[in-house]
Amino acid sequence: MLVTLNEVLQKAHTEKYAVGQFNINGLSWIHAILIAAEKEQAPVIIASSDRMVDFLGGFQTITAMVKNLIAEHQITIPVVLHLDHGLTVERCKQAVDAGYTSVMFDGSKYPIAENIRLTKEVTDYAHARGVDVEAEVGTVGGNEDGIIGNINYASLEECVALVQATNIDALAAALGSVHGNYQGEPVLGFQEMAAIQEAVSIPLVLHGASGIPKHQIDHAITLGHAKINVNTESNKAWLAAIRHALKANPTTHEPQVILEPAREAIIQTVQSKIREFGSAGKATIHA
Ligand SMILES: [Zn+2]
Repeated sequence: MLVTLNEVLQKAHTEKYAVGQFNINGLSWIHAILIAAEKEQAPVIIASSDRMVDFLGGFQTITAMVKNLIAEHQITIPVVLHLDHGLTVERCKQAVDAGYTSVMFDGSKYPIAENIRLTKEVTDYAHARGVDVEAEVGTVGGNEDGIIGNINYASLEECVALVQATNIDALAAALGSVHGNYQGEPVLGFQEMAAIQEAVSIPLVLHGASGIPKHQIDHAITLGHAKINVNTESNKAWLAAIRHALKANPTTHEPQVILEPAREAIIQTVQSKIREFGSAGKATIHA
């Protein structure tokens, strides 16, 4: 069933585990993520990055694919359909209108006053329609689906101002994480993280989790991260499986022979992340 972000994050935040957000690049990703989460009996967040939406066929198509796969495969776990890094207020509104249950407005590239003004516009629109909102302060480093940035730590004052002014449901406070590949060991600002969580008290979101060691993930969860985004790791597993299948079947012309192992690789990756984040067996979100 489709649920809102808040419905899965509140319990995770209280019980100190994180719900995985898994980004999609096509139908087989959606299929794989749903199967993996159902196997693990875990709540799950299926996300399309704004820059991928048109490539994937548009907001309505994505919503229909997710809803139909849930119905066809009798998926029982709670599923959030989320817009990742919404680029404009208009795009966030389109996602809400198409049936997404959660949207991220990424106003981190704007000065804080403008970020707050635009985030509030998204939040007012989304909340009036029963949809939850994530926003970002600071800059996540690296490159994800064309979102490129240098690491810029979120300021405590700006986080507090944004949360108070906009009534968002989850906050991505950038504290040293990177989209894509890390150069060396990630350095997350745990002191800043503790201070921000203490001040804002809503669930925090960790972007760029691929490549962050388990002990740092655990620490981030104890300091309020209830949503962790995974993209690069499932794509790498997908690609490795395709390379392997191409090598093992050099004469085949059948897509399924190559793509079936790739979907299986996504399932494995999603299952292992769900266990790592502590959300396995947490499918019951209402008492
Ligand atoms: Zn991100």
